[in-house]
Amino acid sequence: MGDLQGHDFRGNQWTGGGGGPDVERRDVRDVMGLHLMDNAPWAQENVLRAIQAAGIPKNRDVVVERWTPNTQLAAYRPDWQGGQIAINASAEHWYSTDLAKAQGMLRAENIASSSRPEAPLVHELGHALHHDAVRGNPDWTYHGREYTAPSTLGDSRIREMISRAVSDYAGWSNDPREFVAEVFAGLHEGKTYPSEVMKLYKEFHGPRR
Ligand SMILES: [Zn+2]
Repeated sequence: MGDLQGHDFRGNQWTGGGGGPDVERRDVRDVMGLHLMDNAPWAQENVLRAIQAAGIPKNRDVVVERWTPNTQLAAYRPDWQGGQIAINASAEHWYSTDLAKAQGMLRAENIASSSRPEAPLVHELGHALHHDAVRGNPDWTYHGREYTAPSTLGDSRIREMISRAVSDYAGWSNDPREFVAEVFAGLHEGKTYPSEVMKLYKEFHGPRR
């Protein structure tokens, strides 16, 4: 699978999350740009498994590219043919030989809302489904640009509450789109949130699976 010595996907880090029966497994040729990781087959496997475990439907455009900063693991591009999910081949995160552990650290530091190895792609899928949900809603359009939040999250008490309950990224971004994507990723993992969080999620048209 990988060419790292002793590399193995230990335990069951990939079981138990997402990837419904309708989500077909893609291979290297199905994901444009995955050849950028040709020197790291285990990273390609990380990406392919994450796409599947996140439950990204096969008709959803997923592409691998390189960009900076390399701390950005993936991105959602609302302007690209109905919404594209891009994965950053420059991000060291994807080259981890234990992606569950790497994601677990992001969760432990409260940067991310979920410890699932597929969480970064669930976050982007959350943006994509959220964009679908608000498409055509004039409140979510600004200067002709689609998928722009109509407001910030709220005052510092609300932002701090969200940081504690969801993740620092969800709170500090002060952006309803990031809040929605982070809650979506947490729900995918099976987390439950306080009613104040879910009320906001609903108000912001957060998607349901
Ligand atoms: Zn985001």
